[in-house]
Amino acid sequence: MSKKVFFCNCGANLISADRKLAISTYLKQTGHPFAEISDLCGCSVDRKSETRDQFLEVEEVLIVACFPRAVRLLLENCGIDHSSLKFEYLNFRELSNDQLYAGIDLFFEGNTEVGEFTELHGNAEWPSWFPLIDYSRCNTCGQCADFCLFGVYEKLGNKVVVVNPKGCKNNCPACGRICAQTAIVFPKYEHAGAIAGADSIDEMAEQQRQQLDIDTILGSNIYQALEMRKAKRQSIIRSTAMQQAIAEREKALAEKRSKK
Ligand code: SF4
Ligand code: SF4
Repeated sequence: MSKKVFFCNCGANLISADRKLAISTYLKQTGHPFAEISDLCGCSVDRKSETRDQFLEVEEVLIVACFPRAVRLLLENCGIDHSSLKFEYLNFRELSNDQLYAGIDLFFEGNTEVGEFTELHGNAEWPSWFPLIDYSRCNTCGQCADFCLFGVYEKLGNKVVVVNPKGCKNNCPACGRICAQTAIVFPKYEHAGAIAGADSIDEMAEQQRQQLDIDTILGSNIYQALEMRKAKRQSIIRSTAMQQAIAEREKALAEKRSKK
C-alpha cells in the first residue's frame, strides 16, 4: 500500500516559521514519501497539473495543512478526484506540533516504505487569497457574482464559478460574509469558522453573523445595493478597458514614430 504525506508549508500565514520548519524537519527525518508544497492555495491555481502529479501512484494520503474542508476544495480546484484515493487530514491550525507528529507516526505505523522528498513551489509574488465555492452548500443564488466588484465570479449556465481568482483583493472576505449558504471559503481567513473552511458549522451562529454582516455591508435594501454594485463593476470594467485601449494606442503610435 503506497502512502505519502503532504505538508502545505504556507501555514495559512497563521503558524510560525519555527513551527513550519520543525514540521518539515520531522517529516524529512522519517524517510517516508513526503511532498512539501509551498502554498497549496497558489498551486491549486497556478500549478494544477504539477500538483496532480504529486498524487500519482499513491493510494493513501495524509495531508498536513489547514481545515480539511478547505483542503478538499483546493484539491478539487486542481482536479484531484477524492474518490480514487484514501485521504486523512491533520489540521495545523488546531493541533500542536506534538499532536501532528503523533498523527504522522500513526499514519505510517508498520509501514517501512522509504520514499523520496519532493518540493513544489507556488508563485511567491501572489498572496494566493481567493474564494472557493463549496458546491455542497451553494444554491446558485448568484449574490457573490453580483456583489464582487472585481469580476472574481461569473454565472455560467446554472452554476456560479470563480473565474478570476487573482482579481480578488487580498484579505477581503466580504463575499464570504454575505453568502447566505455559508458556501464561500477563504482557506487563509485568519479567524476560524465556516469562512476559513471549518468542517463543523454552527448553522444558527452563522445565520446570526450573516444577518449582521449583510446589514453592515449591504444595508437594509439588499437588491438595490447589489444593483448598485453591479453598475459600479461595469463602470470599473469599462474604465479598465478604456485605459487598456489608450495604452495600446499610445504603444502603436510610439512604434510608428520609431519606424520613421
Ligand atoms: S452567494 Fe453563496 S450560495 Fe449564492 S451563488 Fe455565491 S456561493 Fe453560491
Ligand atoms: S473577497 Fe472581495 S474581492 Fe474577493 S471575490 Fe469576494 S468580494 Fe471579490
